[in-house]
Amino acid sequence: MEKIQLLEECRDAKKIIISGHVRPDGDCVGSCLAMYLYLKKALPQAQVKVFLEEPSEVFACIAGYDAIDSSYTVDGEVDVFLALDCEKTRLGEAEELFASAKKRINIDHHVSNARGSGDINYVVPGCSSTAELVYGLFEKEYVDADIAKAIYIGMVHDTGVFSYSNTSPATLRTAAELIEYGFDFPAVIDKTFSEKTYAQNQLLGRALLESIIFMGGRCIVSAIDKKTLDFYNATSKDLEGIVSLLRTTKGVECAIFMYETGNLEYKVSLRSCKYVDVSKIAALFGGGGHVRAAGCTINGTFHDAVNNISKQIEFQLKQCEDMNA
Ligand code: 5GP
Ligand code: MN
Repeated sequence: MEKIQLLEECRDAKKIIISGHVRPDGDCVGSCLAMYLYLKKALPQAQVKVFLEEPSEVFACIAGYDAIDSSYTVDGEVDVFLALDCEKTRLGEAEELFASAKKRINIDHHVSNARGSGDINYVVPGCSSTAELVYGLFEKEYVDADIAKAIYIGMVHDTGVFSYSNTSPATLRTAAELIEYGFDFPAVIDKTFSEKTYAQNQLLGRALLESIIFMGGRCIVSAIDKKTLDFYNATSKDLEGIVSLLRTTKGVECAIFMYETGNLEYKVSLRSCKYVDVSKIAALFGGGGHVRAAGCTINGTFHDAVNNISKQIEFQLKQCEDMNA
């Protein structure tokens, strides 16, 4: 997909809204805040707002964090709405505003949103992160250390500190360019990615301890129920990283992590190593994501969810075996 002329598209706008997906992660927060800082600097006459659900406090180190508005209220017409790191159906409370905006721009890297859901789309599924894509659209004269740091955080989170298979030579070149701006990048990784609270580590420990390995060791699943979440006073923000760690179990191709969101309702995270396209599986259950990392919400018991997902994993693994036979 061809790059868009970001500043040209926003040049005459009086009111610009930036938003991303529900339960915003590092890439979503990093891209939205980088875009916010950039547009405020490049187009000082425009009113720019960021609408997001309240992100994890670890992202308070990003400039512009305090400008995040979770009220989703705006006076008058929106000239440009930038939906970042998601398709329109994952904008949550911002979806209606997106629908009524004069110009809708969608920048994303999810394969499940390959066509884009704006009037103007820039969707590159092969790219590591929306942050990397967003940076590629910036005119470098406006980029400063705060913007570089926001972009870097987005990239760090979606690539697992440049370790997942979505990390490309271009990703690393961009990262190299970004750290030249001079922010404290080891601290950024430590404070926003690696550091866990005691409760988060307790939940991680429980998830690992109670995990079940099946399908001859090729699959691993673990779940956390509502009672346990309540005991630790935890939310989805406290569960980041669990599924990635489950995936690193030797011999495992596919990891499933789920947590109870309501009566017979689970939010499911899927990760794969090499063969299984988990975005296809998540899409079958109304979700989406990437080839190696995807998610969905499933109604039913824990066992129903595991059975239904593992059937799809088995099907894909069988197809791979047949191809190699
Ligand atoms: P996670 O498992 O970390 O929540 O999500 C993995 C990837 O799948 C992320 O890129 C996330 O944006 C995407 N994803 C997670 N849940 C959903 C969902 O319900 N629908 C869609 N379309 N994408 C999801
Ligand atoms: Mn992303």
